[in-house]
Amino acid sequence: MNTHRRLAAIVEPARTIDVVHETDVLVVGSGPAGLAAALAAARAGVHVTLVERFGCFGGNITTVGVEGMAWYRHQHTVEANGIGREFETRAAAMGAAVPESQSKSYELDAEGFKVVADTLVQEAGVHPMLHRAFAAPIMDGDRVVGVITESKAGREALLAQRVIDCTGDADVAHRAGAPTHLAPRELLMAASVMFHIAGVDKRRFVEGVAADPQTYRDWGGNGEWNIETSGKEDDMFSPFLHKPFKAALDAGLIPADLTTMAGTWGAIHDSGELTYMNLVHLAGIDGTDPDDLTRGEIEGRRQAMHALAALRAFTPGCENARLRNFGMTLGVRDTRKIDAVYNMTEHDVREQGRFDDTIGIYPEFIDGYGILVLPTTGRYMQLPYRNVLPKGVRNLLVAGRSSGGDRVSHAATRNMACCAVLGQGAGIAAAQSLHDSCELTEVRIDRVQAELQRQGVRIH
Ligand SMILES: Cc1cc2nc3c(=O)[nH]c(=O)nc-3n(C[C@H](O)[C@H](O)[C@H](O)COP(=O)(O)OP(=O)(O)OC[C@H]3O[C@@H](n4cnc5c(N)ncnc54)[C@H](O)[C@@H]3O)c2cc1C
Repeated sequence: MNTHRRLAAIVEPARTIDVVHETDVLVVGSGPAGLAAALAAARAGVHVTLVERFGCFGGNITTVGVEGMAWYRHQHTVEANGIGREFETRAAAMGAAVPESQSKSYELDAEGFKVVADTLVQEAGVHPMLHRAFAAPIMDGDRVVGVITESKAGREALLAQRVIDCTGDADVAHRAGAPTHLAPRELLMAASVMFHIAGVDKRRFVEGVAADPQTYRDWGGNGEWNIETSGKEDDMFSPFLHKPFKAALDAGLIPADLTTMAGTWGAIHDSGELTYMNLVHLAGIDGTDPDDLTRGEIEGRRQAMHALAALRAFTPGCENARLRNFGMTLGVRDTRKIDAVYNMTEHDVREQGRFDDTIGIYPEFIDGYGILVLPTTGRYMQLPYRNVLPKGVRNLLVAGRSSGGDRVSHAATRNMACCAVLGQGAGIAAAQSLHDSCELTEVRIDRVQAELQRQGVRIH
C-alpha cells in the first residue's frame, strides 16, 4: 500500500514559464465552493478567473454524480439560501433538476448541471479556464500571488491579486506551505464509485418502494451506512437499498466479500433512468494518493457491476436495467483539512455555534462517521470567516470541504450546500479586500456581511 517508495531521484531542471493570464481573484477548483466563490466575487464587482482540472464546472455534482444538494431539507429547516439555493432553483428552471424523494429539495441532474454551471459562469462574467490542473503556487515570500497550471499547453503561470483554494483537497494551501491535516487512510470516510442506470420500469420500481418503504432506521450494511441517529429521524422515509444486496449475497450471486454494499438511490425518471446510485463504499482510500485512486476506481467499478446484478435480480422494476454511466471520477469525501484561524468543532455543529464574523448559516445537519442528524427542528449554526482563513500563508482563502475543523464538524461542513456558503463568503471577502485595499486578514467583516446580505445570504 505504500505507494510513494522512492526508487531514485532526478533533478527537474528550472525553467521559465509564460504568464498567460492576470486577474483580480483566482479561484482554483469549481465544485459547490469554487463555483459559489467565483460567482460571488464577480457579482461583488471584481475580475474573476475560475480554474478547473476537468472539462466541466460543478465538482462532485458533475464529475462524480452527487445529485443530492439539500436532501436534508424539511419543513422547519432554516438555511442561508444564497448561491447554494440558486444552484437548485436555476437547475429546476433549466430542466436540470427534479423534486427529491425524501425532502423539500431538488435533486440536481449531474449532466444537466454542467450547462447550468456554464450559464452561471458566463452570466457573471467569470473568466473560465477548464482543462488546467493546479501544479504549484507562485509565492512572494509567504504570499500566494498566483498559480502554475499543467495542461495540454504545458506549464502556464496565472497571476492574481487574491487566490481562493477550492480544490477540496487544499492542494494550493498544502503546496504553499500552510499547515494541513490528513487523517490516516483507515480513518477517512469511504470513497465511492457512483453510477446511474437505465432501463428501469418506473411504475414497478415505485410500487416496490411503496410496498416496502425504508426509513433512516434501516440504514446499515456494515460500512459507511452504519449510523446513530438522534432518534427523531428513525421513522422518516429514506430511499435506502440494502435488501437486494443481502439477498444477492445469500443467493451466492455476488462474491461473499462484498458485504458493505448498501446506500441510497437519487431519482427515478420517466425515461427509466435511476440516478445517483450511492452504493459502493471503499475504505482505506487516500484521495491525495494517485495509486489509491487507481485502485479505488477499478475496484469500485467491479463492485458497481455486482451491485447492478443484485438490483436486476432482487429489485422490482430493475430486471432489465443496464449501466448508463459511472461518475467521471471516484467520489472522495475526506482528505486534507487546513489549520484555519478558527477550526470548527463538534460542539459548534451540534450546539448552534455563533460567531461575530459569521459569513452564513447552515442547518443542524450531520452526516458521516456513523452519525446522522437531520435539521428537522430549525436549529442552525453560523460559519465564521476565520474558518476559510488558513494559518501560515497570506493572500489565500480555502473554502469547501477542506476548510478547518475536527472530525464531526467535517460531517456537517463537507455537505455541498455548506461548501457553497463558505465559498460565497470567501469570494465576497476576497473582493472586499480588493475594494478596500487591505489584506485578507484585515478585511472589514461588516462590509463583507453587508455584501453577503445584498446577495441574499442569511448570516444570522
Ligand atoms: C460519493 C459521495 C456522495 C456524497 N453525497 C453527498 C450528498 O448527498 N449531499 C451533499 O451535500 N454532499 C455529498 N457529498 C459530499 C460533497 O459532494 C463534497 O463534500 C462537496 O462536493 C465538496 O465541495 P467542494 O467544492 O469543496 O469540492 P469538490 O466538489 O470536490 O470540487 C473540487 C473541484 O476542484 C477541482 N480540483 C481539484 N484539484 C484540482 C487541481 N489540482 N487543479 C484544478 N482543479 C482541481 C476538482 O476537479 C473539482 O471540480 C458526497 C460526496 C461523495 C464523494
